[in-house]
Amino acid sequence: MAVRIAENPATGERIGEIVETDLDMIRDMYEKARKSFEMWSSLSIDERLSYLKRLKALMVEEMDAIAKNISLDTGKVLTEALVADILPTVDSLDYIIKRAKSILSPQKRKTPLLLIGKKSYVEYMPRGVVLVISPWNYPLQLSVVPVISALVSGNTVILKPSEVTPFVGKCIEELFQKAGFPEGVFQVAHGGKEVGAKLTEEKPDFIFFTGSVKTGKIIQKVAAEHLIPTALELGGKDPFIVFEDANLERAAKGAVWAAFTNAGQVCMSAERIFVEKSVYERFLELVKKETEKLVQGTDQDADVGSMTSAMQVDIVKSHVKDALKKGAKLELGVNPDEWPDSMFVKPIILSGVSKDMDIMSEETFGPVMPIVPFETEDEVIRLANDTEFGLNASVWTKDLKKARRVASRLVSGAVTINEALVSVANPDLPFGGVKASGIGRYHGEEGLRLFCHDKAILLDRGILKKEVQWYPYKGKYQDFLRLLQSYFRSPRAWIPFLQSFLRLLKK
Ligand code: ADP
Repeated sequence: MAVRIAENPATGERIGEIVETDLDMIRDMYEKARKSFEMWSSLSIDERLSYLKRLKALMVEEMDAIAKNISLDTGKVLTEALVADILPTVDSLDYIIKRAKSILSPQKRKTPLLLIGKKSYVEYMPRGVVLVISPWNYPLQLSVVPVISALVSGNTVILKPSEVTPFVGKCIEELFQKAGFPEGVFQVAHGGKEVGAKLTEEKPDFIFFTGSVKTGKIIQKVAAEHLIPTALELGGKDPFIVFEDANLERAAKGAVWAAFTNAGQVCMSAERIFVEKSVYERFLELVKKETEKLVQGTDQDADVGSMTSAMQVDIVKSHVKDALKKGAKLELGVNPDEWPDSMFVKPIILSGVSKDMDIMSEETFGPVMPIVPFETEDEVIRLANDTEFGLNASVWTKDLKKARRVASRLVSGAVTINEALVSVANPDLPFGGVKASGIGRYHGEEGLRLFCHDKAILLDRGILKKEVQWYPYKGKYQDFLRLLQSYFRSPRAWIPFLQSFLRLLKK
């Protein structure tokens, strides 16, 4: 039995031990999940919601302890654990509790005249056993939000939290246990990529994955083998566009937050800042001034926490080194050659960057802000879209017409205007990416229906003896031809339509 030691990345302190799931147990977990599906999917939404209500109440009660556990396991600032990991989770619970019933109830659809007398609607049928694989940067919300979105429609769920933050994985398991979910409805498989790989091979009915593009592609391949539908929430290289008429002070404070929150370990953090040339120098001064004020640490009053994974520190280091080697200027921060042996990385601002540098083309996922000047609207849209990613973007200007125009032209899953990142905090807005940033959307109506099959139902009360389009066809062709031509002609020719229809009824 493998045991994983959970450590606080900020201090190296041991915080707990997690028993990893034996690969041999995974088939049993699926059997259990499939068995529980029969019971769970037969409950009413209200009955299922009663469990989610208990979970919500528990999370509200234990909020402080959960925040502390997240901070210990990730090196996150306590405030960010609360506001950026717990809040979106509880808000999504709230949203689902209030809205799931109407979103997942059968939806009436229009029935065309050619199908007169019938009724049409769409029903949302749960998919079965959903596998959720989650990452380490927001270990609570990126696990719990897809899990509850899947559970509410009647799916059972197996969650594999990231092995980098196993303590939060254990904490989630205990929360669901305390909330009293029936046996087998929600299970947690602890472990690393071997456990993840085995889980995908055991043919879940749907895979919801959040993580790297590399792993996303592996999962999509395995899923294709068995035609398993997936949703993939992958990386980003989000543009942050500042026009000369923006509220510069706000834009600078926003950029500093969007680039450095969670030590930059955010899939939608601002990773490429584009600033109109006329205000470039002023903006640079402002962001430097704001960044100098930031306090590093993990307590309530700190601003920037530690990095969570040592591997990620290495990636950040290599991106910054590559940029400096190719001629970028270190405007603020420490040269990677002089970094202390610590998981705290001091925020870095770079200028003189270009597309041939990793810092401008690959996801850095660390506290680095590269800034680039631009001259025209068309140019900045081209620059912003010149990436393999497309998760989020932001546009900063007081001219809201221009802001909307630019937002519409950005190839991106979401855009915020004079704001950063917060589109994800509205549980009614769909979340997801385009291009290499992913496939599918969760949150909002889309996010609940994602875990369902859309089942089309057409109903006839069954009173007539037969239908005109049934056998025999003998002698009907000419009447059908007249019926269809008169129906689709513009304007419709009602008299020949009715004549041919009545004739067909008699045949
Ligand atoms: P990140 O470093 O952002 O967490 P990864 O893609 O490495 O991104 O990991 C995300 C999640 O995917 C983690 O829970 C990890 O254990 C899991 N994982 C990694 N490799 C595989 C794989 N081959 N199959 C299934 N899950 C995997």
